[in-house]
Amino acid sequence: MRKYVIMGVQGSGKGTHSQLLARDLDLVHISVGDIFRWNVQRHTKLGALVRRIMASGELVGDDLVESVVGDRLAQHDWNYGFIIDGFPRTVRQAEFFLESYDIDGVIHLHLPDSEVRRRVLARRLCAGCGMDYNLIDNTPTVEGRCDVCGGELIRREDDTPHALEVRLREYHEKTNPVLDIFRRKEYVITVDTRPDKEQVQQAIRDKLGISSTGLKTTKSQDETR
Ligand code: ADP
Ligand code: ZN
Repeated sequence: MRKYVIMGVQGSGKGTHSQLLARDLDLVHISVGDIFRWNVQRHTKLGALVRRIMASGELVGDDLVESVVGDRLAQHDWNYGFIIDGFPRTVRQAEFFLESYDIDGVIHLHLPDSEVRRRVLARRLCAGCGMDYNLIDNTPTVEGRCDVCGGELIRREDDTPHALEVRLREYHEKTNPVLDIFRRKEYVITVDTRPDKEQVQQAIRDKLGISSTGLKTTKSQDETR
């Protein structure tokens, strides 16, 4: 059983790298942002509570976030563990989390703010299947259309220059102190996310000491031999 937290500024690739780890280690990927966006799209009560706050780039209140995360983890569908992305983002959330869970590691994805702006403002999302694109090095074959499902590519409501500045400010003010708490507990590995995706993923695994044996992908290769 492994329990990881992944942290990093906007556009640092938390979603992508969590998914790769989750797939190979059989972890459940829990993304607080995705849970909120799902609720906004479906016009649920929770969606109505968080929509405006998210669009402005500010953080949702701790009580609400804690109840959402608490409910999600209480489902206990994570037999092999979980990787949680987008939580904790404040000192209070970190204290709440550490009271109930012991964690095996914190993956900190580092990206300078100038690169964050370049990446986030170029980011697009498929309205159909949620696939991520960016107009720098991951462009769709047909402009404005998803390669997988043909859906329309849209911009996240909070990927505007103004909301991004608010999100970055919130991150530096409220989330950096969380990293300091984890650093004191020696949980944190930091990886520079400027290199390409494969290199970054490998660096994460090396630093976490995850060997290739025991990974699902390696096992299935062995089985075909
Ligand atoms: P990003 O890291 O790119 O800002 P996320 O998808 O993780 O995006 O989160 C989107 C928004 O959801 C945040 O800007 C915030 O409004 C809200 N949110 C997500 N996680 C939290 C959290 N732990 N605490 C407060 N608000 C959160
Ligand atoms: Zn799509």
